[in-house]
Amino acid sequence: MNKPNKQPENIIGQNFGDIIITKEFDRTIRPNGTIIRNFEGVCKCGEIVNGTYQSIKEKQCCPTCKRERRRKEKMENILYKKYNKLTIIAEKREDNKVLCRCDCGNTKWIILNSVVNGITLSCGCYQKEMTRSYNSFPRDVKDKFGEDILRVREDKVKTEKFVEKIVEARILKSIISLCQRTDYKYSKYYLSRGIKVCDRWKGTNGLLNFLTDMGIRPSPKHKLQRLDIDKDFEPDNCVWYIKE
Ligand SMILES: [Zn+2]
Ligand SMILES: [Zn+2]
Repeated sequence: MNKPNKQPENIIGQNFGDIIITKEFDRTIRPNGTIIRNFEGVCKCGEIVNGTYQSIKEKQCCPTCKRERRRKEKMENILYKKYNKLTIIAEKREDNKVLCRCDCGNTKWIILNSVVNGITLSCGCYQKEMTRSYNSFPRDVKDKFGEDILRVREDKVKTEKFVEKIVEARILKSIISLCQRTDYKYSKYYLSRGIKVCDRWKGTNGLLNFLTDMGIRPSPKHKLQRLDIDKDFEPDNCVWYIKE
């Protein structure tokens, strides 16, 4: 059983954070005998706050001030942070927009959530760049994935979900891990011999570059094969190959 909250009889005039309790406006007695007292308070901003002693004590300020405080905290956390190609450099309160500097040098006002959640990735230059890069993909990649392939550079969660579906992505992931893992029984063929995956196939654009260089796997029987096993995984040294 909960202990009833101790309430001093004289509550009027007490301060809780930014709220000062101004009057008691209601008192209800529950069937079990508990007395529920409702108070009215004023926040330092002038807003009226109603509630029980305990709830006002916990609030510390009105909802508007609370939102404002949260917004400020949030802003402090994100100012000068970088999201994709955008760095937040200033805020505009009314319409929830922030001023961003894009990697390309442009500045633009963009809805905060859109920046933070990775919906807007750049000032707009990225879309243009994407269209250009889409045009440069090999036909087989375009035929297989359509414009969906451009999503592999979007936010991480979406990307991972999408990438799971692409067999080429899994192959790329496995060769990268082959060349990095020390605990792997085949490390002696890769890591220990200094075999690497070229930088072009790693990082944010790695998969797109890999697909651009290698195209899609021609059939499930094809394996990614190095022509010279003393050389790295790189465009000139790799082919899709069917082992006899
Ligand atoms: Zn307030
Ligand atoms: Zn830009």
